[in-house]
Amino acid sequence: MKQISTFGSAGYQPGDLQLLRDAGDDAAVARLLAPCPIMRLNAGQAVAESNQARLYIVLRGALAVETDTSTGMTDGTVSKVLPGESVGEQSVLDEEANLASITALEDSDILVIEAHLVWQLIDESNVLARNLLRLLSFRIRAANAQLRRRQKVGEFYRQMSMNDALTGLYNRAWLNDVLPRLTTTAHSTGAPLALIMIDLDHFKRFNDSHGHLAGDQALRAAAQVLSGALRPTDFAVRYGGEEMMVLLPDTSGPMAVAVAERLCERMQQAQVFADMRLPLPHITASFGVATLEARQNEQDLIASADAALYRAKELGRNQVAQQAAGS
Ligand code: GH3
Ligand code: MG
Ligand code: MG
Repeated sequence: MKQISTFGSAGYQPGDLQLLRDAGDDAAVARLLAPCPIMRLNAGQAVAESNQARLYIVLRGALAVETDTSTGMTDGTVSKVLPGESVGEQSVLDEEANLASITALEDSDILVIEAHLVWQLIDESNVLARNLLRLLSFRIRAANAQLRRRQKVGEFYRQMSMNDALTGLYNRAWLNDVLPRLTTTAHSTGAPLALIMIDLDHFKRFNDSHGHLAGDQALRAAAQVLSGALRPTDFAVRYGGEEMMVLLPDTSGPMAVAVAERLCERMQQAQVFADMRLPLPHITASFGVATLEARQNEQDLIASADAALYRAKELGRNQVAQQAAGS
């Protein structure tokens, strides 16, 4: 960037600048600004790096400001600075180097005010000081609003990554996160923890006869049976494919078997529709129940529920089996 003139000789009025609005006829301000250089940037050109804090005011053209490129954590947020607007106030005030990368969006003329001059201007002009405070307050609000928006988006994606898209149940990633904690709590408090493993019966046949889309409907219906029948403290998870799981904290083996019996009953009553006028045959599922034993970890618990489920399948499906005592 090269200097093309000074503010005093270029015919601009201080009152044209946002920071100096209502201070336009202040002679002291005009005198301090007069020698400040006006630099010309061609489109795409960056403001030369300076370890001095400086205020840049756009007189003509537009600048793109990308915040905090130094940390490598820039999120691509670019703001546009238009004629009369400024960039760099904050680095002048806190005397930190400006961490933003500033480039010209088009051929631009920029007024450059060194930090010590900004302080002199603040000493001279209450109006400028007030405008500066207002501007900073506005910037903080905007930054906070952006932060809140980003948190919301982050929460949305976190939720999405923890729930299964087809059924809305928790997914495997959630399970890997939560089940170890549930087992640790159960061991440390001595409260029981039960797990029911569920697998739809002859589901391949269901898919083959009615199509994959109808199969998806059936999976949704099965998920609804689970989530509709549980206490708020219980969790239903899609473990994978047509396998689901229910976690029951504070629940003993006999109680968990009773819950599984109820789920088994409701499962075979659930209506599956491929089309509102066309109910499909009912689905059934097999249930394997296990409770956490001393010295078992979460993998062991899943394995015993799985073994019980295998027994339920062997015994003819559409029923509940419990882990064999001591296994
Ligand atoms: P079993 O009673 O022994 O469990 O028999 P099965 O047919 O249910 O067991 P198998 O493991 O052979 O088949 C599981 C079927 O589940 C096959 C697969 O296409 C179907 N499946 C898994 N995930 C989905 C899904 O997301 N949508 C649909 N429509 N089908 C799925
Ligand atoms: Mg299966
Ligand atoms: Mg199955």
